[in-house]
This record gives sequence, structure tokens and C-alpha cells, in this order.
Amino acid sequence: HSVARENICVGNGGDELLYNYLLAFGGAGRTLLNCPPCFSEYAFFASLCQTEVRDVWRDPATFELDQAAVLAAAPECNLAIVTSPNNPTCDVAPLDFVAALCDACPGMVMVDEAYVEFADDSFGAATTAQALIAEHPNLVILHTLSKAFGAAGARLGYVIAAPEVIDVFAAIRQIYSVNVLSQAAALACVRARDAYAPVVAQVAAERDRELAALRAMAAEGMPVEAWPSSANFVLVRTPHATRVRERLRDEYSILVRDFSYAPGLADCLRITVGTPQENDEVLAAFAALVKEEM
Ligand SMILES: *Cc1c(COP(=O)(O)O)cnc(C)c1O
Repeated sequence: HSVARENICVGNGGDELLYNYLLAFGGAGRTLLNCPPCFSEYAFFASLCQTEVRDVWRDPATFELDQAAVLAAAPECNLAIVTSPNNPTCDVAPLDFVAALCDACPGMVMVDEAYVEFADDSFGAATTAQALIAEHPNLVILHTLSKAFGAAGARLGYVIAAPEVIDVFAAIRQIYSVNVLSQAAALACVRARDAYAPVVAQVAAERDRELAALRAMAAEGMPVEAWPSSANFVLVRTPHATRVRERLRDEYSILVRDFSYAPGLADCLRITVGTPQENDEVLAAFAALVKEEM
């Protein structure tokens, strides 16, 4: 990332750092600005830290951030989290919006970039909000080795921020939370970065192919809606999504994530991009089931 050691703190997965973010900067009497539908852990960690959550919902049809509403709420909040690309709605938060949010929020702003490597062909370098840290010392960027590096079991995440902010993360961290085996695995991953790039590029290309195929289903009159994606998954809405998900599992041995239960995500499934052959299989199975359930 071309930053100094003083700009980085590692954690036991990005989740530990998310928790520590709430632990350090949230707390009783403080409010987290949240933009659902998004990663449900934010609200969970906020509740553990007695932090109030101010939800500014995304557009129910496009899932775009309601930028004006977020910026209007920001002055009354003590900390904020924006996910870019967002899980599960797949979109990137524009950098001018992130900068405006850093100006509007009197406390810290975290951009969770767990999926950023999939967002462009420079491993996230063209998408990350990292460059804004220089002028916005209240900005923290969250990364993880769990997604693009496929090393979720190694439990390694890290934050990039101004040294003063890193000092806060360092002050409250469990001192031995990242064991030496995880450190070794993580170092092997980042040193092999160049070897991951073609895999990430293939996933991104396959994601675009999957989206095009889902759009083609919609164009043929099938009840399928899919949103643009900068991540390694696509979000798709179809009636009877829970049933489609069960039948994908039981009849095709394909697992996708059902978000039907989540507020704002009725009948939405999240399909993770796999190998070209896996993607062909999931597209064919999905199309067949949607037709049968129509
Ligand atoms: C996966 C994920 C993380 C972090 O995952 P870890 O495995 O704990 O590193 C953080 N944010 C989002 C949105 C994620 O999807």
C-alpha cells in the first residue's frame, strides 16, 4: 500500500478490527452512522459496545447510498462506516462522497474495503479511498485477506490510517490476537500478490459475464433483477427466492446466500462468483428453477 509501518494495525480478521473500532470510538452515548442494507456485523458490534445506530437506508430500488441524507445525519454521529464495495449490494462509494462524509462527521469514518481488490484491474488501487487519509485524518480503511486472497481461515485483517489513529487501535488490541502462524500465512499471501492478480481478474470478468447472463434472463421476460457489481458476488432478486435457494442446494448441490430475511432485501440471493464451469452450472440451474417457480 506504499504506507509506513506506523499507518497499519493488524487484527484477527477484519471482524476484530471492526469490533475494536466500535470499542475504541463508540460506546454509551455515542452514535454509529450506518447505511443498510450492509454488513450486519456493524450493528451487532455496535450493540455489544452500547453504541446507538443511526441507519440511513439506501435507495430501496437501486441500493445506491442516499448521499444527501448521510451527509445530513453525519454531524450528529460520532462515527461512521461505509462499505465499498458494499456487501451484499455490490456498489462502490464514490470518493468525493467519502471525502464529504469525513468533513461532515465530527468523529471517525471507516471505509470497509473487504472486497476492493475486485473493483478494478489494479487490485483496488484505483478504487480505494486510502489517498484521502492525507487530508482527512479521521478516515480509516479496513482490509482483509479473507476475500481476494482466499485466506479467511488465516484470520488476518488490517486497517490503514493516520499514525494517531493507529495508536488508538494499538492501545486497545488484544496483544496476542494475531498468532505467528497467521502472520506467516498472511506474509506468504501478500508476497505472492502478483500471483493472485490474474485470479482476481478472472473472477471480475466472470462476475461481469454472470451479470450479463442474468440481465439476458430479465430481457427474456423472466422475473430476475440483478444489480451492477464491483465485488466477487452478484445480488439477484427473484420471486420465491427462498425456495429457489433451497432447490439449488438440494437438487444441484449449489450453495448461495439467501438474504430474503434481511430488511430491504426481500427475495434477494447473493451468488458468489466461482470458476467458469461453476458459474455456467449455477446460471443454468438458476434459470431452470426460476422458470419452474414462475
Ligand atoms: C468478510 C468481510 C469482512 C471481514 O472478514 P474477516 O474474515 O473477519 O476478515 C469485513 N467486512 C465485510 C463487508 C466483509 O464481507
